[in-house]
Amino acid sequence: MEEQHRIIKTFKRAVVKVGTSSVNHPNGKLNISQIESIVRQLVDLYNQDKEVLLVTSGAVGAGAGKLGLKGRPKTIPEKQAAAAVGQGALMHIYEKIFAEYGVAVGQVLLTREDFSDRRRFLNARNALCTLLRFGVIPVINENDTVAVDEIKLGDNDNLSALVAGLVEAEILFLLSDVEGLYTADPRKNPAAQLLEDISEITPDIEELAGETGSCMGTGGMATKLQAARIAMHSGVVTVIAGAWKKDVLRRVIAGERDRTIFWPLDNKLENKKQWIAYSSTVHGKIFIDKGAAQALSGQGKSLLPSGVVGVEGVFELGNTVSIIGPDGMELARGLVSYSSSDIEKIKGAHTKDIARLLGRKDYDEVVHRNNMVLNI
Ligand code: GLU
Repeated sequence: MEEQHRIIKTFKRAVVKVGTSSVNHPNGKLNISQIESIVRQLVDLYNQDKEVLLVTSGAVGAGAGKLGLKGRPKTIPEKQAAAAVGQGALMHIYEKIFAEYGVAVGQVLLTREDFSDRRRFLNARNALCTLLRFGVIPVINENDTVAVDEIKLGDNDNLSALVAGLVEAEILFLLSDVEGLYTADPRKNPAAQLLEDISEITPDIEELAGETGSCMGTGGMATKLQAARIAMHSGVVTVIAGAWKKDVLRRVIAGERDRTIFWPLDNKLENKKQWIAYSSTVHGKIFIDKGAAQALSGQGKSLLPSGVVGVEGVFELGNTVSIIGPDGMELARGLVSYSSSDIEKIKGAHTKDIARLLGRKDYDEVVHRNNMVLNI
């Protein structure tokens, strides 16, 4: 724990995410004093030679305000229009305030495909790292104008955790209108207690997260937990803290405890496996029997055709699939060595029969253990 606490003070690279309710007033107009306070804190970190990346929500909210819509836009075209108008307004204000402190910013708008396509993923990493090398603070959001719902990440909590993994940040700050994760809803239950340190996301903790969220943003505690889970497996410390609090970053870094910290797991996933587990698009499902489930989770073995009982979806060699155990739960995710139609033909068969059934044998395994992540 000592060592872990040290990271909070000594980190070199951080991702800071601010939610819609922190940058917009409830009517959708930009909350200038709050944005100013966040920018000031980021510049202060920057001046201490730390690299910071800002993930900011608020485009759709700000755009809705400008378009005169009441509440969050409902239809996809309205959301896209609001994002187009709002993103400009948001960027303008960041640009202006950062410039007052002499710091350059660069707008980076990402979509799910920038993570799910391995080549684009590496491209995005290069672009972000180059900005940092030039001393620029990347200001990141999802590209809501072009990303329609089906292909959206949808919330910036998840986006910021993926960004943290992408650039190998040591710490992710989720600044929000809540102070952290409580044992109950603090607005309804005065006895609710703040959970200060979390080393494992248990089902109980997931239950606590519920489905809360403010009216303009899309997040809430549930997406923060998803983000924390990604970060924990990627070796990133995650801090949830109150965006509205004066000097919140400095105070958390100084060791104040009114926040929730999720500590990374000891055995973080290597880069490729992080990508398989959290970024790549899942193209289908492979159902396996009890013996195979034991071989995978108990002994860390590869998945052979003999353990496969069914296939769902259409996928190609190299796509990511979800591996489902006999209880119907997802057991693992991995890159397949055969297409869905090939697996249909070889399921249940012995490895030695692959060549006869397919007319060729490229691999022994359906999913090799080096391309597989258990317990996502
Ligand atoms: N990208 C959305 C926006 O800028 C925010 C998504 C979220 O609320 O997490 O409005």
